Amino acid sequence: MLNIPAYAAETGQSPLQPYTIERREPGPGEVLIDILYCGVCHSDIHQARDEWGGTGIFPMVPGHEIVGRIAQLGEGVERFAPGDAVGVGCFVDSCRVCPHCRGGEEQYCDEGMTATYNSRERGGGAPTHGGYSTRITVHQDYVLRIPESLPLDRAAPLLCAGITTYSPLKHYGVKAGDRVAVVGLGGLGHMAVKLAAAMGAEVTVLSTSESKREAALQLGARDFAATRDPATFKELANRFDFIVDTVSGEHDYNAYLSLLTVDGTMILLGIPEAPAPVAAGMLIMRRRKLVGSLIGGIRETQEMLDFCAAHGVASDIELIDIADINEAYERMIAGDVRYRFVIDMASLEAAA
Ligand code: NAP
Ligand code: ZN
Ligand code: ZN
Repeated sequence: MLNIPAYAAETGQSPLQPYTIERREPGPGEVLIDILYCGVCHSDIHQARDEWGGTGIFPMVPGHEIVGRIAQLGEGVERFAPGDAVGVGCFVDSCRVCPHCRGGEEQYCDEGMTATYNSRERGGGAPTHGGYSTRITVHQDYVLRIPESLPLDRAAPLLCAGITTYSPLKHYGVKAGDRVAVVGLGGLGHMAVKLAAAMGAEVTVLSTSESKREAALQLGARDFAATRDPATFKELANRFDFIVDTVSGEHDYNAYLSLLTVDGTMILLGIPEAPAPVAAGMLIMRRRKLVGSLIGGIRETQEMLDFCAAHGVASDIELIDIADINEAYERMIAGDVRYRFVIDMASLEAAA
């Protein structure tokens, strides 16, 4: 076993602090990765604070936007070589034999995927620990290749925020000329803007933060509307083909549904703590669709990374030291992030 420096939440009420975890030496088919960068997803906050129904496994080492380099190969690994730039996203294993795993959509595995953290290794094993740590051991089948043209720090958020927005845009067939609204301009939201714009859609950002107007246009949006202004909902009624809802906190789904045209689709990506009511009439009157989507499979994540490399898309980030992680959480909750915090793991290496 390897002793690895990490940051963990001891309980759902405690801040993140230094912690040591054990990682196994890479077994057959596995690789050991030196983690260089890890993005900070709002799901890290939801889980570290046990906001999803008290299901958290503690102590918890969050982090599922992992980029690093191959340090060591287990027996029989031929797809990777030491030094290769690689990524690990939201899951590290799945059953591999159910129809969804076979179809390359491991996130919908019938037995449940093994999440990168806050999960258990298959067979009810040890808790998994995420990317707020300096090294991780993963089976090669769950490791992504980072294209050479992508800067590694700005590629990290693609492993969750990127694939979570790319997958539904593809699945629901967003195409050039479609009117797409993105609700919430945080980590997921800014990737949704960049990716939908790269696919040729006409993107409008709907935000609670008037201060993000200029930035939204720079990211590739054609338009911006402030959702604190009730006039917005009158002006934009029945307008959009798609709405991508990335909001992490409580909000009124009905108000946003009213902005969809006939047969329009609202895609829920944000996972607020509490359930919220949906009025049947909002769906019925214009045959609207309300759907959800969970991250993306390994094959599609690689496709997304290659798409980003081809279109010059990467995340806009603020690089932080791991000692600043608790403050970063508070800033994210306040909507004060442009647009993803990424932990420079050298800061953990140096502190250890
Ligand atoms: P984030 O960076 O914190 O961005 C969320 C944004 O939502 C904020 O910047 C803010 O944007 C807006 N917002 C927050 N609270 C709001 C409220 N009460 N009402 C209206 N707008 C509000 O978070 P993220 O990392 O992008 O994650 C967003 C959500 O997606 C989280 O719930 C996360 O758990 C979930 N998620 C889901 C998946 C999936 O597979 N479906 C994957 C990853 C994350 P403005 O300032 O522009 O209003
Ligand atoms: Zn995430
Ligand atoms: Zn499966």
